[in-house]
Amino acid sequence: MKKTDLTNFTLSQLTDFVQGLGLPKFRGKQIFAWLYRPNITDFSQMTDLAKDLRETLTFHASFHWPEIDALERSKDGTVKYGFKLKDNNYIESVLIPEDGRNTLCVSSQVGCAMGCGFCLTGGMGLKRNLSPGEIVAQVVRVRNWLHDEAGTESVLSNIVFMGMGEPLANFDNLLVALEILTDQRGLDFSDRRITVSTCGLVPKIIELGQKTKANLAVSLHSVDDSVRSRLMPVNKKYPVADLLEACKNFPMPKRKRIMFEYILIKDLNDSVSDAENLAKSLQDIPCKINLLPYNETTDLSFQRPSDETIGLFQKTLREAGYTVFVRSSRGSDISAACGQLAGKMSS
Ligand code: SAH
Ligand code: SF4
Repeated sequence: MKKTDLTNFTLSQLTDFVQGLGLPKFRGKQIFAWLYRPNITDFSQMTDLAKDLRETLTFHASFHWPEIDALERSKDGTVKYGFKLKDNNYIESVLIPEDGRNTLCVSSQVGCAMGCGFCLTGGMGLKRNLSPGEIVAQVVRVRNWLHDEAGTESVLSNIVFMGMGEPLANFDNLLVALEILTDQRGLDFSDRRITVSTCGLVPKIIELGQKTKANLAVSLHSVDDSVRSRLMPVNKKYPVADLLEACKNFPMPKRKRIMFEYILIKDLNDSVSDAENLAKSLQDIPCKINLLPYNETTDLSFQRPSDETIGLFQKTLREAGYTVFVRSSRGSDISAACGQLAGKMSS
């Protein structure tokens, strides 16, 4: 008999499962809480469950998150983790320590089907979606690693879905993962500390706004349809006007602002008039803007603009009243920077 994998269950799904075994409802809560305590690997560790109950669970169910299989540390403190999945597929997550917080950048798919021209993950194509448990595993394992490695004072504070894959293309599993991550009986992350980044799947943006309270990040990169369609095929289906309309209508209470990500690529989207058009297009949307100077890779031919061009772009947006950050490229020496995740870890 195949055992049921409990790592894919929200609390209410786990409760249904437990009741299906003829157990009372409260056992669901009890077992769910155990699953997400640090370093619990076996039902025998769940000491307030009677022995026969632990045996029943061992017979019918299992819980095992993919383990950290490889690890690389960058000079700047960034850590990249490789996880080997059951079917030998490989995913990566990146820990970014900064200003007293630890942000984990998680993957949502093996590869990505969206085909953005500047992104190495896109170059892999889509291999498959991650299950809810495989998404949550990245958080569970890195939280345990931080706990063991750096002591209790070093906790995971933020989660961003900016690793491999397009989270909104794996929507149902994303929703389950978000519910598990934010459940107070489990990992207890506040929605305000979770950000989902998308290339712009408009109907799913609207649904995300209705069904969760997570923050939204949008990879924009241009407000000119012809440039954006060239960089991001998804724009042909959901053009800039539709995307910005969805952002305008995104329910904001509690979520402070939408974050727009904008890769600066030399001679393509980095001129002062590009910055002015961007400023005009976003004027009705509460937002902040992250500028990501293009991370050059040997595989692709785009180039990073000069520091002067980057500075001018930022200044133009600042003068138009926007909060704008230039994101320094963290972890580029270990291929952990944005768009460099392609499952090619060396160790
Ligand atoms: N699929 C989602 C989330 C993962 S991509 C999305 O596209 O939003 C994470 C971020 O890295 C995106 O903002 C993406 O545009 C950016 N990125 C991809 N390749 C990059 C590169 N070569 N240089 C800088 N940023 C890059
Ligand atoms: Fe996919 Fe995001 Fe890369 Fe585009 S940028 S190919 S959506 S991972």
